[in-house]
Amino acid sequence: MVTTPPTTTSETVRATTLLKKAIGIKYTLFERVEFARNGLVCDVRPTTTVPRCGGCGRKVRQLYDRREPRLWRHLDVAGMKLHLRYALRRVDCRRCGVTSELVPWAVPGSWFTEAFEQTVTYLAQAASKTVVASMMRVAWATVGTIVQRVVERMLPGDRLEGLTAIGVDELSYRKHHEYVTIVTDHVSGRVVWARPGKNADTLRLFFEELGKERCAKLSAVTVDMSQAYITAIKESAPNATLVFDRFHVQRLVHDALDAVRRAEVRELDEPDERQALKKSRFALQKNPWNLTDIERTKLVEVQRANRRLYRGYLLKETLAAILDRRQPNVARNKLIEWVSWAKHSQLEPFAKAARTILGHLDGIVAYVATGLSNGRAEGTNGKIRTITRRSFGLHSARSLIAMIFLCCSGLTLRPAQTTLALPCTHPT
Ligand SMILES: [Zn+2]
Repeated sequence: MVTTPPTTTSETVRATTLLKKAIGIKYTLFERVEFARNGLVCDVRPTTTVPRCGGCGRKVRQLYDRREPRLWRHLDVAGMKLHLRYALRRVDCRRCGVTSELVPWAVPGSWFTEAFEQTVTYLAQAASKTVVASMMRVAWATVGTIVQRVVERMLPGDRLEGLTAIGVDELSYRKHHEYVTIVTDHVSGRVVWARPGKNADTLRLFFEELGKERCAKLSAVTVDMSQAYITAIKESAPNATLVFDRFHVQRLVHDALDAVRRAEVRELDEPDERQALKKSRFALQKNPWNLTDIERTKLVEVQRANRRLYRGYLLKETLAAILDRRQPNVARNKLIEWVSWAKHSQLEPFAKAARTILGHLDGIVAYVATGLSNGRAEGTNGKIRTITRRSFGLHSARSLIAMIFLCCSGLTLRPAQTTLALPCTHPT
């Protein structure tokens, strides 16, 4: 006797219906699906019969022609690559002229679906481009162009609104041959502007974009001691206090100390002594409270055997202590004393650093008064360093800037996911 199978509550579905539900792109008809050499190819078309212009998004009844079918890469299905195939229509738009139509699954000019681009960008926020490229099976450079497109779409237009205190910094890439100027909002800690270049003209572009009214509202700008930036700030933001970044001031004396150490190494005849002094670099540069026992011993040795170098070390430490102060007037007096000490220290690199510090005294005292420093956005700086490290200097400026915005401007991304809106068919 043949028994009829019990009726099940599950539905069998056609392959195209399955894909339509799984892919979940709105306003798209799935016509047929086939296995191709490198995965699945699904023929699709927009549900609307009247096409929209790819330039302005308006409906255009005037068809121009239809192009050859082409493929858009979508997110993989069960580990298989999936491409959507469609022959784009061209429209004759009254505003834009002859353009390709707008399709619901991708932005004009991209051969990846929006969901694919969103997922790539989400991953690029946390992983290196190499990881993203291998996971998503796209070329390394493609990750960069996708990130650029998504960041341009997502960045809010009012990034320059309400700025009061900003930090201006330069970032080098391509082994220090190329530069990008970055502007950070000290209040939110976010990068708000970035452009290739590091001269006064680069920064003038920022102030032009900001406009006179908003420039007048800037109360403080932190910057390194480069004359190019200073000139542009003084011209464009006369109400802003110029604050010299503490990190850059301290780097001046760190470099001076290293110059003294190298000169002392050259003076020594005894190979053992030379070697010992060569190895003292980190002990001399580090903050005293971070020293290991071995480094502390090295420092004691420098104090015993090399008075000139130890004098340099004391100058470096004293400057750091002055910058830790919180009373601007006291700091100013201490800085003037420090300059005099450095000039008479018989250490030429320190005398030179002292002249620079004296020339920028007001801006350094302004640091003590405001406590503002580019180093305060340390989280941002750390992220930017990671981005440049990950990129190994191969970035174009546009791609690097897109990565900086992606990781340091507060953009929130999610991976593209499809939620099924199926009727509940399971027996309860
Ligand atoms: Zn148009």
